[in-house]
Order: sequence, then structure tokens, then C-alpha cells
Amino acid sequence: MRVLVASRGDLAEDYCWTVAGELVAVVSRCEDVQCSLCDLCVAFVGVGSARATTVARVADVAITRDAYVEALHELYVREGVECTVDEAREEAEQLLALASTLAPGALVRRHGDELRQAS
Ligand SMILES: [Zn+2]
Repeated sequence: MRVLVASRGDLAEDYCWTVAGELVAVVSRCEDVQCSLCDLCVAFVGVGSARATTVARVADVAITRDAYVEALHELYVREGVECTVDEAREEAEQLLALASTLAPGALVRRHGDELRQAS
């Protein structure tokens, strides 16, 4: 399945504390609806490490849709974020829909709720 995994950006403001290649989720949600630039708004979170990175990469990974949803949901539960399985599934579907439109190796950045291919 084509998914988003942790990667590393090469801009001065990029950071990457994730494990290379782990699945990522969009966990942090900032309260400011106008904001798309703070740390909470630009980070992807590794589902295994629960650490953050500013850049994700499209990759083909051997994982089922249900296992993917479960990985996301487990991360939320572990991090104490309120999230039902249905909510995790919704996020998984959004991430999968984006990944399916991009080629493996494409880099993705996050601006709040919006994910865009990095230029
Ligand atoms: Zn923010």
C-alpha cells in the first residue's frame, strides 16, 4: 500500500526525531485556526517512536489497511489523544488518498490540516 513514512527535510527549519521509514500520522492539532506554521501545525508524528518530523515521504509498504488504521489508533491512545477507531480510520483514509496520488519517493509537507507535495 502506498503510505506516508518519516523522512528528513533539508531546510534550516526542518527537524527530524522520528525513526527513518516508520509510518507517520498527523497527531498534533493547534488551537489557533489561523495558524499553519507553529511546530504543532507542521509536524508529522512517527507511529512507532511518537517523535516528530517536518517531512514525510511516499513509500510502498507491505501493510493492510486495517493494520494501518490500528497503528494510527494505537499511537493516539498511547499519546493520550482522544481518538476513536473511526476517527483513526478517517485520518488513515485521508493519508492514503493523498499518498495514492503521488509517486514513491515524493516528499510531503504539512501546513495545518493541509498536506502538500514539497516543491
Ligand atoms: Zn499552529
